[in-house]
Amino acid sequence: MSELKETKAAAEPAVSAPAGNNFIHNIIDKDLEQKTYGEKPIYTRFPPEPNGYLHIGHAKSICLNAGTAEKYNGKFNLRFDDTNPMKEDVEYVESIKADVAWLGGKWDKLIFASDYFDIMYDCAVKLIKKGKAFVCDLSAEQMKEYRGTLTVPGKESPYRNRSVEENLKLFEEMREGKYADGEKVLRAKIDMASPNINMRDPAIYRVAHVSHHNTGDKWCVYPLYDFAHPLEDAIEGITHSICTLEFEDHRPFYDWVLRELEWPTPPQQIEFARLNLTNTVMSKRYLKALVDDGTVVGWDDPRMPTIAGLRRRGYTPEAIRDFCERIGVAKANSTVEISLLEHCIREDLKTKVESRMVILNPLKVVITNYPEDMTEEMEIENNKEVPEMGSRMLPFSRELYVEQDDFMEVPVKKYFRLFPGNEVRFKGAYFITCNEVVKDEEGNVVELRCTYDPETRSGSGFEGRKVKGTIHWVDAKTAVPVKVRLYDYLFVDGEDGRYVPNPESVKEITGYAEPSLADAKDGERFQFFRQGYFIAGRELGAAVPGGPDRGERVFHQIVDLKSSWPKK
Ligand code: ATP
Ligand code: MG
Repeated sequence: MSELKETKAAAEPAVSAPAGNNFIHNIIDKDLEQKTYGEKPIYTRFPPEPNGYLHIGHAKSICLNAGTAEKYNGKFNLRFDDTNPMKEDVEYVESIKADVAWLGGKWDKLIFASDYFDIMYDCAVKLIKKGKAFVCDLSAEQMKEYRGTLTVPGKESPYRNRSVEENLKLFEEMREGKYADGEKVLRAKIDMASPNINMRDPAIYRVAHVSHHNTGDKWCVYPLYDFAHPLEDAIEGITHSICTLEFEDHRPFYDWVLRELEWPTPPQQIEFARLNLTNTVMSKRYLKALVDDGTVVGWDDPRMPTIAGLRRRGYTPEAIRDFCERIGVAKANSTVEISLLEHCIREDLKTKVESRMVILNPLKVVITNYPEDMTEEMEIENNKEVPEMGSRMLPFSRELYVEQDDFMEVPVKKYFRLFPGNEVRFKGAYFITCNEVVKDEEGNVVELRCTYDPETRSGSGFEGRKVKGTIHWVDAKTAVPVKVRLYDYLFVDGEDGRYVPNPESVKEITGYAEPSLADAKDGERFQFFRQGYFIAGRELGAAVPGGPDRGERVFHQIVDLKSSWPKK
């Protein structure tokens, strides 16, 4: 798919002026100064087509539009751009509402563009009466031929000079259902020689014998996007119609429609660069294909760049808003590093969530000089950065689990964790020395036999000697097994510079956790000490999108701890 190409070119993270002060706001400031819109409030909208779930790119548009209205004490509409009955579905309407609300977008009005079909029809009639629109019988193919190219001017349609009366009659008949799909279209009458192809008598209404989710079978003619959009904006009193760059060439037609209809104080269209992210594909069409072919479990699969997916993954609205603020609003396309998004969620969770000890790949440790039936309670702080978050007690006894990664039989240089003869601190507990390695028949290390120094108990003020490594552990007797899903990017580099789905984007393991994790509530987030951030969720696919989670408990990895951002 060609759109995969565009998102690829990894550039330096684009951090331009924050949304709090961007070129769009400069335009608005000027409009306020010059009273371009009189006493009208600044009015923006977010106009999704309900043909898929929203993604992180849409979040940028929501933050910009809702944020702008908020900044200027203006208004903001959530408008479903549902004028194309062929592609839309009500399932998406509910998900979009939920996602915008979750992000914190507060709309003044929730609107369906299809509610304006009557007005739009009247506007088309008005254009016909002004001699600015005509019914054309050319087939789609012929229209294409007549349109010309960037270098060759178009040819006028032989139907262009029909009388106003004939056009009114034919358009009425189109509406009455007299013609088949594609038999006739209504076109604006502008200029077939215009250097801008969008101005070469574009189609504004077409026949489509299709039921519409909102208007049912009332209509068999539907307005085309370029005609409908300026009307939707104008009807709602939108002042600044913010859209992505690919609509720049459509702006002259947007203005033409409202000028010919003599709309008082018409809205103005302003274009900004869409968000592209490394390792991410954002086209709804492509994301839908991944859902349909089972590459992912649903639109809200935690690997998806959808807002529903990010929410399930454990992202917070605060982190996403912070991200949108940091990337800012620019007029030139660029690709943002996904590590910036990851940085934002780490920053948000760092001081909000408690830490827990969880061993993902267990290796058994036996402390040979620790009494067989003794258990001590060790105090561990809940968040190292926020002492007010208190502490909790963890059981410690003779048999423990540590991470396999925290042991090396033959240590590499600068390895300060467990290896034969080395002493490390067990977080919040004792100094422990590895003495002996137990292997199975195949030579795999299955157990470490260690000793502890009772003098070194954490908090006892011991200052006798220092160790370089601190590792985490759980008590084997009381540990609870937990299902953990570790995620990698859904997309990786494929051939000829395109992204392709990563066959190893999810790995499921059983970890061993401190006992308190058994009581985690759905949606509760934690830092797994030294591992990353995780959210308590439910089995993939068990949830109804937007509904309560069901199924078995699973901890989804939100993000790991290492930060490649900012790059020093
Ligand atoms: P896609 O191409 O991903 O299917 P779309 O542009 O067709 O998206 P719409 O539902 O038409 O999706 O978009 C609603 C609004 O969101 C539009 O104003 C659009 O410009 C904006 N938008 C869509 N994708 C992005 C993006 N990647 N970055 C910023 N804004 C976006
Ligand atoms: Mg679209």
